[in-house]
Amino acid sequence: MRLDGKTAIITGAGSGFGAGIARKFATEGARVMLADINLEAAQAVAAEIGGHARHVDVSDAASVASMAEAARQCLGPLDILVNNAGVTHLPAALDEVGEADFDRVFAVNCKSVYLTARVLVGAMRARGAGAILNVASTAGLSPRPRLSWYNASKGWMITATKAMAVELAPHGVRVNAICPVAGETPLLKSFMGEDTPEMRRKFLSTIPIGRFSTPEDMGNTAAFLCSDEASMITGVALEVDGGRCI
Ligand code: ADP
Repeated sequence: MRLDGKTAIITGAGSGFGAGIARKFATEGARVMLADINLEAAQAVAAEIGGHARHVDVSDAASVASMAEAARQCLGPLDILVNNAGVTHLPAALDEVGEADFDRVFAVNCKSVYLTARVLVGAMRARGAGAILNVASTAGLSPRPRLSWYNASKGWMITATKAMAVELAPHGVRVNAICPVAGETPLLKSFMGEDTPEMRRKFLSTIPIGRFSTPEDMGNTAAFLCSDEASMITGVALEVDGGRCI
C-alpha cells in the first residue's frame, strides 16, 4: 500500500474530488481526517472508509486552527495535507461578478492555503517530512471566459504551490498541485450555469479524451503525488485533464 501508516487531512472531502481522494487514500492505508463545511457529507464518506469527519470552514482562521488541533489529537503527526475545498462564482462577465462572490472565491480557494500552512507546516518542517497537495484546476492554466475570478484564484494556487515548494524543499516537505478538468461533481453545474445536454456537449468538446474527469482520477493522481514514490517531485502542477490543456 502506497500510503501505509500515513496520516492525512483532506479538506472538502465530503463531495466530489475530495471524497475521491479520501477514498483512495484509505484504500492505500492512510488514516484520514475528512474536513468539510458540510459535516454531514464528510461524516457519510468517513463512515464508509473508516475516517474521522470534522467540520471546518477553510476560510476562517480559528476554524482551521481547531481542525489542525483535532487532527493532532486523533491522528498524531501529520504526513499529508490536501487543500481541496473550493468554490466558484456563477458564470458571468468579469465586471459583473459581485464583490461578495469575488471575496468568497479568494477566501475559500486561496486564503485557505495560507491558513492551513500557518498551522500545519511548522510541524512538517520540524520533522523534515511532509507532502502538501493543492487541488487547482485547468482553469488556472488555460482560462475560459465568464469564470475570470475563479480562473485567477486557481492560477494563484499554482503559483503558491511553486512558492511553497521552493521554500520547503530543503526541509523535506514537498508541495504539488493537480489541475483537474471539470468532473461530474456539484461544481460542474456551477461552471455551466445551466445543466443541459447542450451545455454538457459543449463542455465535453473541449476535452480531447472525450469524458469528464472523475473523483477516482483525482484519487489515483493524489495518492501517487503524496506517496514516497514521488519523493523527487515537488512544485509541479500536474494536469489531470484528458488533454484539455495541450
Ligand atoms: P469539486 O468538483 O471540486 O470536487 P464539490 O463542490 O463537489 O467540487 O466539492 C467541494 C467541497 O468543498 C464540498 O464538499 C464543499 O462542502 C466543500 N467546501 C466548500 N466551501 C468550503 C469551506 N469554506 N470550508 C470547507 N469546505 C468547503
